[in-house]
Amino acid sequence: MTRRQPQGYHEAMTAKYIREPERRLPVRGEYEVVVLGGGPAGIAAAASAAGAGRKTLLLERYGFLGGMGTAAGVTNFCGLHANVHGDIRQVVHGVADELLARIDRLGGLNAPHPVFGKTYAQAYDTAAYKCAADDLLLGKGVDILFHALGAGVVMEPDDTIRALVVETKSGRAAVLGRMFIDCSGDGDLAAWAGAPFEHGDGAGSMLYPTMMFRLNGIDPAAAGEAWKVIPELMEAAERRGMRFPRKGAIVRPQKNPMEWRVNVTQMRRPDGSALDGTDADELSAGEIEGRRQALAFFDFLKREAPGFGNSYIVDIPPQIGIRETRRISGRYQLSGEDVLSCASFPDTIGVNGWPLEKHVAGDVEWQWPPIPQSRGFNHLPYRMLLPQDVRNLLVAGRCASMTHEGQSAARVSGACFAMGQAAGTAAHVALAGNTGLADIAVDALQDRLQADGAYLGRDVE
Ligand SMILES: Cc1cc2nc3c(=O)[nH]c(=O)nc-3n(C[C@H](O)[C@H](O)[C@H](O)COP(=O)(O)OP(=O)(O)OC[C@H]3O[C@@H](n4cnc5c(N)ncnc54)[C@H](O)[C@@H]3O)c2cc1C
Repeated sequence: MTRRQPQGYHEAMTAKYIREPERRLPVRGEYEVVVLGGGPAGIAAAASAAGAGRKTLLLERYGFLGGMGTAAGVTNFCGLHANVHGDIRQVVHGVADELLARIDRLGGLNAPHPVFGKTYAQAYDTAAYKCAADDLLLGKGVDILFHALGAGVVMEPDDTIRALVVETKSGRAAVLGRMFIDCSGDGDLAAWAGAPFEHGDGAGSMLYPTMMFRLNGIDPAAAGEAWKVIPELMEAAERRGMRFPRKGAIVRPQKNPMEWRVNVTQMRRPDGSALDGTDADELSAGEIEGRRQALAFFDFLKREAPGFGNSYIVDIPPQIGIRETRRISGRYQLSGEDVLSCASFPDTIGVNGWPLEKHVAGDVEWQWPPIPQSRGFNHLPYRMLLPQDVRNLLVAGRCASMTHEGQSAARVSGACFAMGQAAGTAAHVALAGNTGLADIAVDALQDRLQADGAYLGRDVE
């Protein structure tokens, strides 16, 4: 008996391309607001759109929410706080507060800890984050479709998106929407829809990715404040000829003091530039290299760091952490200078209190606004969520409209929550007023955000 070769088999052996037969896609549903991606921006966007009464769908390629915060094992919120003239205070509220309260109720939220004595960050457990985010979105009435990989769009002739095409275990399907919010981190939806974007620093590189990992079995008493000692141990080891992927290791305890997170690896291409998180082959190589580097650094910690002798790797997360890929070129690009000068904008929708944190080759470079002379945060203008050339799309999170430098700051969770909440609310305001996203009354958006607990940073100079 001869087996039939699958259609296209012979062509695939020789040709560079094969033609995929046209097919009709089942429509999975029709929504007022469709959010692609369930990281901090997507969670906040879906929560605010549904909270305003909009029929909202969130699509996520994994089986859980949290984005890099869970899928890449980040386990730490930055940018929730700012150093306001010497007073470190929380400056991102609204949906972020609702999520933090749920993580805390599950026992998964650390107290905020100081960062260089200038601001705070706040660690959390991934399991608690995932469960808290489910609870938040279901409570708001969001439809969630997990294991759904966004794969393309169907456009109308007038530059509006008609449908998002999605791959699922039940097959390929279309989701119709009136408003779309790209929270994919990589600007996937914006790129498919034809919105202009930039990729990395314009010279072929990006902020370098990191494979996070967590250790358990640490002796907290012996470890003490080991995060202060580990950089010195690394320098001593380098003098003996050891090499590390980068300086600026972040090795800190989680809620359970026996468990610590490690942020030190760095994934490069063969030419030394940053690995590209939108390239399938590079991603694949990066996962393997990330795990190799994690094992090597664990070996060093176990041997040399106080209290780490009996530790073991409890988690290497589902994916390498991608800091930067596409950033849309929207109506306004938030710049590094905006961050350092604590810029104000009339269309503020929230604030960023995190400094420039540049993951360059082999190191992390920090640049802060003047502390305590400045208010320590910049406004995030609504225009940075508005892409060019696509009418019913907003882009929030690390792929919003920022320069390479500006993104090194406002990509962290705090600003992503703020942008996401603003995007979900703006979609609602546009639908309510039957206007385009670029034409909404910004003061109506700001009033609604404030009524929902967001902080817009207009009370401090
Ligand atoms: C190693 C590392 C360490 C970091 N450390 C910190 C830190 O300590 N504190 C901090 O606050 N921030 C930190 N950050 C930054 C922060 O985690 C991210 O910038 C932030 O999560 C971005 O949020 P986002 O919602 O824009 O995108 P993401 O968190 O990237 O979320 C995007 C979501 O979209 C999904 N998605 C993407 N494409 C598709 C598609 N085509 N179809 C369906 N789903 C899709 C992804 O699975 C993901 O869930 C770190 C980042 C990295 C990589």
